[in-house]
Amino acid sequence: MAEMNKRTIEDISMEGKRVLVRVDFNVPIEDGRVADDTRIEAALPTIRYLQKNGAKTILMSHLGRPKGEKVDSLSLKPVADRLGDLLDQKVHFAEDCVGSAAEGAVEALKTGEILVLENTRFHPEEKANDAEFAKKLTGLADLYVNDAFGSAHRAHASTEGVANHLPAVAGFLMEAEVKNLSRAVENPEQPYVAILGGAKISDKIDVVRSFLDRSDTLLVGGGMANTFLAARGYQMWDSLVEVDALDTAREILQGSGEDMLLPTDLVVADDFSAEADHKVVDVAEIPEGWQALDIGPETVETFRQVISTAKMVVWNGPMGVFELEPFAKGTNEIAQAVALVDGFTVIGGGDSASAVNKAGLAESMSHVSTGGGASLAFLEGKMLPGLAALDDR
Ligand code: AMP
Repeated sequence: MAEMNKRTIEDISMEGKRVLVRVDFNVPIEDGRVADDTRIEAALPTIRYLQKNGAKTILMSHLGRPKGEKVDSLSLKPVADRLGDLLDQKVHFAEDCVGSAAEGAVEALKTGEILVLENTRFHPEEKANDAEFAKKLTGLADLYVNDAFGSAHRAHASTEGVANHLPAVAGFLMEAEVKNLSRAVENPEQPYVAILGGAKISDKIDVVRSFLDRSDTLLVGGGMANTFLAARGYQMWDSLVEVDALDTAREILQGSGEDMLLPTDLVVADDFSAEADHKVVDVAEIPEGWQALDIGPETVETFRQVISTAKMVVWNGPMGVFELEPFAKGTNEIAQAVALVDGFTVIGGGDSASAVNKAGLAESMSHVSTGGGASLAFLEGKMLPGLAALDDR
């Protein structure tokens, strides 16, 4: 594993200290209950370590997009309850992340106990990275730990601002993400195959360029491939195509030569629906009024062969509309192919991580990142503000 040049929780004494930890508890809530606790589970090693080492643990996170206001349905209370269940102990909860509610709760906290603060984004100062707000948060603690890799690409008060006022170190999840993803950035084993999918290329143009630079072969599927196919001159009819990105797509195609592979066949449908009439066609033969919603079997086979030779694979974005069963095959088959690779395989968060989890293949991958945007930014070689702000070794 690559080394990390940041201090971690193992480099610092926690005994009797109030430790403010930024975790990623941005989990789906349905009917007032946590619908998927993967992200809570991912924070447990750090939480357990802090407890064992005599810290008073104060957890903070955002949840959803409350736009700077208190929104009851986006409270972290159900998350605190679920954390209590997972740890089989009482987890305290403060109704606000700053002010008297937070201060009183911290004051009452004993060594080894855990407190969850209310959603940081109930305050507009969080996203504005307001210095006074950051100081109020740091006033609660002696040390800061950032374990929220999934939010590290954002310079917000709880992810970046607080690190300027306290000793600031990485938690275990942050450390594992950085070490694993660094391997794909600094010293990728070869052949290095990158796979990109998802809806749009406009969101991922820098990623496409960076993968073309760093990898040996870039495989492109999903809605993103439609825009490249349109740029090549294929008639895509009702498929998702980004007209504004066509010039950029042409320019990328010209520079990429043999290094970028696009689908040669597609699953097309007469409607964006699981009940739609659908069939496999060559990319040149999409019927008028139909749309491409998955890669076809010939493309899967070509991609599978390339993937099977890889020593390093990085994958972000589904190969089709995998949420709808008739269009999930391409994504699932690519997941199977990556799972069989005899090398280092990284799933870059977001929908591709959900697809891999859903297919029960997470254990077969070297690393499934918990951060979508953050892992892409990292893989592009961009600095993550939440990581950069931590103390250097
Ligand atoms: P992203 O967040 O960019 O990774 O995009 C993920 C979304 O892309 C998923 O919700 C997919 O349903 C969607 N997607 C993938 N392929 C297609 C396609 N061919 N047409 C429309 N949407 C797609």
